[in-house]
Amino acid sequence: MTNVIDGKAVAAALRLRVAERAAAFAARAGRPPGLDVVLVGEDPASQVYVRNKGRACEEAGMRSAIHRLPADTTQDALSALLDRLMADEAVDGVLVQLPLPAHLDERAVLARIEPSKDVDGFHPANVGALWLGREALVPCTPWGCVRLLDHAGVKLEGARAVIVGRSNIVGKPMAALLIQRSATVTVAHSRTRDLAELCAEADVLIAAVGRAKLVGADWVKPGAAVIDVGINRDAEGKLVGDVDFAAVAPKAGAITPVPGGVGPMTIACLLENTVRAAWRRAGYGALDL
Ligand code: NAD
Repeated sequence: MTNVIDGKAVAAALRLRVAERAAAFAARAGRPPGLDVVLVGEDPASQVYVRNKGRACEEAGMRSAIHRLPADTTQDALSALLDRLMADEAVDGVLVQLPLPAHLDERAVLARIEPSKDVDGFHPANVGALWLGREALVPCTPWGCVRLLDHAGVKLEGARAVIVGRSNIVGKPMAALLIQRSATVTVAHSRTRDLAELCAEADVLIAAVGRAKLVGADWVKPGAAVIDVGINRDAEGKLVGDVDFAAVAPKAGAITPVPGGVGPMTIACLLENTVRAAWRRAGYGALDL
Protein backbone atom coordinates (compact mmCIF):
# COMPACT_ATOMS: atom_id res chain seq x y z
CA MET A 1 0.00 0.00 0.00
CA THR A 2 1.45 3.34 -0.96
CA ASN A 3 -0.02 5.23 1.99
CA VAL A 4 2.01 3.19 4.51
CA ILE A 5 4.86 5.24 5.95
CA ASP A 6 7.99 3.10 6.08
CA GLY A 7 9.51 4.09 9.41
CA LYS A 8 12.40 1.66 8.95
CA ALA A 9 13.49 3.32 5.72
CA VAL A 10 13.08 6.87 7.06
CA ALA A 11 15.04 5.90 10.17
CA ALA A 12 17.80 4.27 8.12
CA ALA A 13 18.20 7.43 6.03
CA LEU A 14 18.36 9.59 9.18
CA ARG A 15 20.94 7.25 10.71
CA LEU A 16 23.11 7.64 7.63
CA ARG A 17 22.96 11.43 7.89
CA VAL A 18 23.75 11.20 11.60
CA ALA A 19 26.75 8.96 10.85
CA GLU A 20 28.08 11.57 8.40
CA ARG A 21 27.77 14.32 11.01
CA ALA A 22 29.34 12.06 13.66
CA ALA A 23 32.33 11.51 11.37
CA ALA A 24 32.61 15.25 10.74
CA PHE A 25 32.50 15.87 14.49
CA ALA A 26 35.17 13.25 15.15
CA ALA A 27 37.46 14.75 12.50
CA ARG A 28 37.13 18.18 14.10
CA ALA A 29 37.03 17.31 17.81
CA GLY A 30 39.52 14.43 17.73
CA ARG A 31 36.98 12.12 19.34
CA PRO A 32 33.57 10.70 18.36
CA PRO A 33 30.31 11.91 19.92
CA GLY A 34 29.57 9.82 23.00
CA LEU A 35 26.37 8.53 24.58
CA ASP A 36 26.27 7.04 28.08
CA VAL A 37 23.22 4.97 29.02
CA VAL A 38 22.39 4.13 32.62
CA LEU A 39 20.36 1.01 33.35
CA VAL A 40 19.25 0.22 36.89
CA GLY A 41 17.94 -3.29 37.55
CA GLU A 42 17.20 -6.20 35.27
CA ASP A 43 13.93 -5.35 33.49
CA PRO A 44 14.09 -7.54 30.35
CA ALA A 45 12.47 -5.01 28.01
CA SER A 46 14.82 -2.26 29.26
CA GLN A 47 17.82 -4.54 28.68
CA VAL A 48 16.81 -5.00 25.04
CA TYR A 49 16.19 -1.26 24.52
CA VAL A 50 19.54 -0.36 26.06
CA ARG A 51 21.43 -2.94 23.99
CA ASN A 52 19.77 -1.67 20.79
CA LYS A 53 20.64 1.93 21.62
CA GLY A 54 24.29 1.03 22.23
CA ARG A 55 24.53 -0.96 19.01
CA ALA A 56 22.89 1.82 16.98
CA CYS A 57 25.40 4.32 18.38
CA GLU A 58 28.34 2.21 17.35
CA GLU A 59 26.89 1.68 13.87
CA ALA A 60 26.72 5.45 13.50
CA GLY A 61 30.39 5.81 14.48
CA MET A 62 29.70 7.10 17.98
CA ARG A 63 31.11 5.99 21.29
CA SER A 64 28.62 4.35 23.61
CA ALA A 65 28.85 3.04 27.15
CA ILE A 66 26.25 1.21 29.19
CA HIS A 67 26.39 1.58 32.96
CA ARG A 68 24.53 -1.32 34.59
CA LEU A 69 23.63 -0.83 38.22
CA PRO A 70 21.95 -3.39 40.50
CA ALA A 71 18.22 -3.06 41.25
CA ASP A 72 18.96 -2.07 44.87
CA THR A 73 21.22 0.86 43.87
CA THR A 74 20.79 3.82 46.21
CA GLN A 75 19.78 7.30 45.10
CA ASP A 76 23.21 8.55 46.25
CA ALA A 77 25.09 5.98 44.18
CA LEU A 78 23.07 6.82 41.08
CA SER A 79 23.57 10.55 41.67
CA ALA A 80 27.32 10.02 42.05
CA LEU A 81 27.47 8.21 38.69
CA LEU A 82 25.46 10.95 36.99
CA ASP A 83 27.69 13.66 38.49
CA ARG A 84 30.74 11.84 37.14
CA LEU A 85 29.19 11.65 33.66
CA MET A 86 28.26 15.33 33.78
CA ALA A 87 31.88 16.26 34.57
CA ASP A 88 33.31 14.08 31.78
CA GLU A 89 34.02 16.17 28.66
CA ALA A 90 33.88 13.13 26.36
CA VAL A 91 30.28 12.42 27.38
CA ASP A 92 27.88 14.30 25.11
CA GLY A 93 24.61 12.59 25.97
CA VAL A 94 23.33 10.78 29.02
CA LEU A 95 20.09 8.89 29.36
CA VAL A 96 18.69 6.94 32.25
CA GLN A 97 16.52 4.10 31.03
CA LEU A 98 13.02 4.27 32.52
CA PRO A 99 11.20 2.94 34.44
CA LEU A 100 13.45 3.08 37.50
CA PRO A 101 12.92 0.76 40.48
CA ALA A 102 10.20 2.22 42.75
CA HIS A 103 12.57 3.25 45.59
CA LEU A 104 14.38 5.74 43.33
CA ASP A 105 13.13 9.31 42.83
CA GLU A 106 12.75 9.59 39.05
CA ARG A 107 12.15 13.31 39.10
CA ALA A 108 15.37 13.98 41.03
CA VAL A 109 17.32 11.66 38.72
CA LEU A 110 16.13 13.36 35.54
CA ALA A 111 16.81 16.81 36.99
CA ARG A 112 20.43 15.77 37.71
CA ILE A 113 21.20 15.41 34.01
CA GLU A 114 22.47 18.70 32.65
CA PRO A 115 20.13 20.07 29.96
CA SER A 116 23.01 20.18 27.43
CA LYS A 117 23.52 16.40 27.80
CA ASP A 118 19.84 15.49 28.19
CA VAL A 119 19.36 13.55 24.94
CA ASP A 120 15.95 12.25 26.07
CA GLY A 121 14.72 15.85 26.40
CA PHE A 122 13.09 15.15 29.77
CA HIS A 123 14.84 17.81 31.91
CA PRO A 124 12.45 20.61 32.93
CA ALA A 125 14.73 23.15 31.20
CA ASN A 126 14.40 21.33 27.87
CA VAL A 127 10.65 20.83 28.37
CA GLY A 128 10.28 24.56 29.04
CA ALA A 129 12.46 25.53 26.08
CA LEU A 130 10.37 23.31 23.80
CA TRP A 131 7.12 24.97 24.91
CA LEU A 132 8.69 28.41 24.53
CA GLY A 133 9.77 27.55 20.97
CA ARG A 134 13.46 27.89 21.83
CA GLU A 135 16.30 25.60 20.89
CA ALA A 136 16.00 22.42 22.94
CA LEU A 137 16.79 18.73 22.95
CA VAL A 138 13.38 17.30 22.04
CA PRO A 139 12.00 13.93 23.25
CA CYS A 140 12.89 11.31 20.64
CA THR A 141 9.52 9.61 20.02
CA PRO A 142 7.40 12.69 19.25
CA TRP A 143 10.26 14.20 17.25
CA GLY A 144 10.37 10.98 15.22
CA CYS A 145 6.61 11.31 14.59
CA VAL A 146 7.08 14.83 13.19
CA ARG A 147 9.84 13.56 10.93
CA LEU A 148 7.52 10.80 9.64
CA LEU A 149 4.72 13.29 8.96
CA ASP A 150 7.16 15.51 7.07
CA HIS A 151 8.46 12.56 5.11
CA ALA A 152 4.89 11.65 4.09
CA GLY A 153 4.31 15.24 2.94
CA VAL A 154 1.53 15.86 5.46
CA LYS A 155 0.69 19.55 5.74
CA LEU A 156 0.68 20.49 9.41
CA GLU A 157 -0.01 24.20 9.11
CA GLY A 158 -3.69 24.76 9.81
CA ALA A 159 -4.34 21.02 10.20
CA ARG A 160 -6.59 19.76 12.98
CA ALA A 161 -4.49 17.39 15.05
CA VAL A 162 -5.76 15.09 17.78
CA ILE A 163 -3.26 13.40 20.09
CA VAL A 164 -4.63 10.56 22.21
CA GLY A 165 -2.44 10.29 25.34
CA ARG A 166 -1.03 13.02 27.57
CA SER A 167 2.19 11.50 28.91
CA ASN A 168 5.29 13.61 29.51
CA ILE A 169 7.23 11.34 27.17
CA VAL A 170 4.93 11.33 24.13
CA GLY A 171 1.58 13.15 24.28
CA LYS A 172 2.61 16.49 25.81
CA PRO A 173 5.81 17.09 23.80
CA MET A 174 3.92 15.97 20.66
CA ALA A 175 1.41 18.75 21.36
CA ALA A 176 4.19 21.34 21.72
CA LEU A 177 5.80 20.26 18.44
CA LEU A 178 2.54 20.34 16.48
CA ILE A 179 1.58 23.75 17.89
CA GLN A 180 5.02 24.99 16.81
CA ARG A 181 4.20 23.76 13.31
CA SER A 182 0.90 25.73 13.37
CA ALA A 183 -1.49 22.80 13.70
CA THR A 184 -4.62 23.22 15.82
CA VAL A 185 -4.06 20.67 18.55
CA THR A 186 -6.37 18.76 20.89
CA VAL A 187 -4.90 16.45 23.51
CA ALA A 188 -7.27 13.64 24.50
CA HIS A 189 -6.82 11.16 27.34
CA SER A 190 -8.56 8.54 29.44
CA ARG A 191 -11.19 11.01 30.70
CA THR A 192 -12.02 12.53 27.32
CA ARG A 193 -15.71 12.35 26.38
CA ASP A 194 -16.83 11.29 22.88
CA LEU A 195 -13.31 10.26 21.95
CA ALA A 196 -14.28 8.47 18.71
CA GLU A 197 -16.15 11.52 17.39
CA LEU A 198 -13.29 13.81 18.35
CA CYS A 199 -10.73 11.63 16.57
CA ALA A 200 -12.94 11.44 13.48
CA GLU A 201 -12.49 15.23 13.05
CA ALA A 202 -8.70 15.00 12.92
CA ASP A 203 -6.59 15.59 9.81
CA VAL A 204 -3.67 14.24 11.83
CA LEU A 205 -4.33 11.58 14.46
CA ILE A 206 -1.59 10.50 16.87
CA ALA A 207 -2.35 7.46 19.04
CA ALA A 208 -0.09 7.16 22.11
CA VAL A 209 -2.13 5.18 24.60
CA GLY A 210 -0.91 1.59 25.01
CA ARG A 211 -4.17 -0.21 24.16
CA ALA A 212 -4.19 -2.74 21.34
CA LYS A 213 -6.35 -1.70 18.38
CA LEU A 214 -8.20 1.01 20.31
CA VAL A 215 -8.53 3.16 17.17
CA GLY A 216 -10.93 1.60 14.66
CA ALA A 217 -11.97 2.71 11.18
CA ASP A 218 -14.93 4.75 12.47
CA TRP A 219 -12.49 6.90 14.51
CA VAL A 220 -10.67 8.05 11.39
CA LYS A 221 -11.58 10.74 8.86
CA PRO A 222 -11.06 9.62 5.25
CA GLY A 223 -7.63 10.75 4.09
CA ALA A 224 -6.31 11.52 7.61
CA ALA A 225 -2.68 10.91 8.55
CA VAL A 226 -2.52 8.34 11.35
CA ILE A 227 0.60 7.91 13.49
CA ASP A 228 0.56 4.89 15.78
CA VAL A 229 2.94 5.19 18.73
CA GLY A 230 1.48 2.31 20.75
CA ILE A 231 3.38 -0.90 21.40
CA ASN A 232 1.14 -3.72 22.61
CA ARG A 233 0.80 -7.49 22.40
CA ASP A 234 -2.49 -8.86 21.06
CA ALA A 235 -4.20 -12.04 22.29
CA GLU A 236 -1.84 -14.18 20.15
CA GLY A 237 1.21 -12.38 21.52
CA LYS A 238 1.80 -10.49 18.27
CA LEU A 239 3.19 -6.94 18.40
CA VAL A 240 0.41 -4.45 17.53
CA GLY A 241 -0.16 -0.74 17.87
CA ASP A 242 -3.05 1.31 19.25
CA VAL A 243 -4.60 1.42 15.78
CA ASP A 244 -6.47 -1.42 14.09
CA PHE A 245 -4.15 -1.24 11.09
CA ALA A 246 -6.06 -3.59 8.75
CA ALA A 247 -9.31 -1.67 9.27
CA VAL A 248 -7.85 1.86 9.23
CA ALA A 249 -5.20 1.63 6.48
CA PRO A 250 -7.67 1.59 3.54
CA LYS A 251 -9.27 4.78 4.87
CA ALA A 252 -6.18 6.75 5.93
CA GLY A 253 -4.22 9.09 3.68
CA ALA A 254 -1.03 7.98 5.41
CA ILE A 255 -0.45 5.54 8.25
CA THR A 256 2.45 4.08 10.21
CA PRO A 257 2.58 0.31 10.82
CA VAL A 258 3.57 -1.41 14.07
CA PRO A 259 6.23 -2.68 14.02
CA GLY A 260 8.24 -0.68 11.49
CA GLY A 261 6.73 2.77 12.02
CA VAL A 262 7.48 5.03 14.98
CA GLY A 263 9.70 2.52 16.82
CA PRO A 264 12.75 2.71 14.52
CA MET A 265 12.48 6.50 14.49
CA THR A 266 12.84 6.74 18.26
CA ILE A 267 16.34 5.26 18.18
CA ALA A 268 17.35 7.25 15.09
CA CYS A 269 16.24 10.46 16.83
CA LEU A 270 18.23 9.51 19.93
CA LEU A 271 21.32 9.32 17.72
CA GLU A 272 20.33 12.65 16.18
CA ASN A 273 20.03 14.22 19.64
CA THR A 274 23.43 12.84 20.65
CA VAL A 275 25.21 14.30 17.65
CA ARG A 276 23.28 17.58 18.13
CA ALA A 277 24.33 17.69 21.80
CA ALA A 278 27.97 17.07 20.85
CA TRP A 279 27.87 19.71 18.13
CA ARG A 280 26.30 22.30 20.40
CA ARG A 281 28.57 21.61 23.37
CA ALA A 282 31.62 22.02 21.09
CA GLY A 283 30.26 25.36 19.83
CA TYR A 284 30.26 24.29 16.17
CA GLY A 285 27.18 26.36 15.27
CA ALA A 286 24.05 25.23 13.43
CA LEU A 287 23.77 21.57 12.50
CA ASP A 288 21.78 20.71 9.39
CA LEU A 289 20.15 17.28 9.71
P1 NAD B 1 1.40 6.35 29.42
O1 NAD B 1 0.83 5.12 30.03
O2 NAD B 1 2.33 7.20 30.18
O3 NAD B 1 0.22 7.27 28.88
C1 NAD B 1 -0.90 6.74 28.26
C2 NAD B 1 -1.90 7.84 28.00
O4 NAD B 1 -3.05 7.29 27.39
C3 NAD B 1 -2.38 8.56 29.26
O5 NAD B 1 -2.26 9.94 29.07
C4 NAD B 1 -3.84 8.15 29.41
O6 NAD B 1 -4.66 9.22 29.86
C5 NAD B 1 -4.22 7.78 27.99
N1 NAD B 1 -5.24 6.74 27.97
C6 NAD B 1 -5.26 5.56 28.62
N2 NAD B 1 -6.37 4.85 28.32
C7 NAD B 1 -7.06 5.59 27.44
C8 NAD B 1 -8.29 5.40 26.75
N3 NAD B 1 -9.01 4.30 26.91
N4 NAD B 1 -8.70 6.37 25.94
C9 NAD B 1 -7.98 7.50 25.76
N5 NAD B 1 -6.81 7.72 26.37
C10 NAD B 1 -6.36 6.78 27.21
O7 NAD B 1 2.09 5.82 28.06
P2 NAD B 1 3.23 6.46 27.12
O8 NAD B 1 4.56 6.32 27.77
O9 NAD B 1 2.82 7.78 26.60
O10 NAD B 1 3.17 5.39 25.93
C11 NAD B 1 1.99 5.20 25.17
C12 NAD B 1 2.20 4.02 24.24
O11 NAD B 1 3.26 4.32 23.35
C13 NAD B 1 2.60 2.72 24.93
O12 NAD B 1 2.07 1.64 24.19
C14 NAD B 1 4.11 2.71 24.81
O13 NAD B 1 4.63 1.39 24.82
C15 NAD B 1 4.27 3.34 23.46
N6 NAD B 1 5.57 4.01 23.26
C16 NAD B 1 6.21 3.73 22.10
C17 NAD B 1 7.40 4.34 21.83
C18 NAD B 1 8.09 4.03 20.54
O14 NAD B 1 9.26 4.25 20.39
N7 NAD B 1 7.37 3.52 19.53
C19 NAD B 1 7.99 5.23 22.73
C20 NAD B 1 7.28 5.54 23.90
C21 NAD B 1 6.06 4.91 24.15
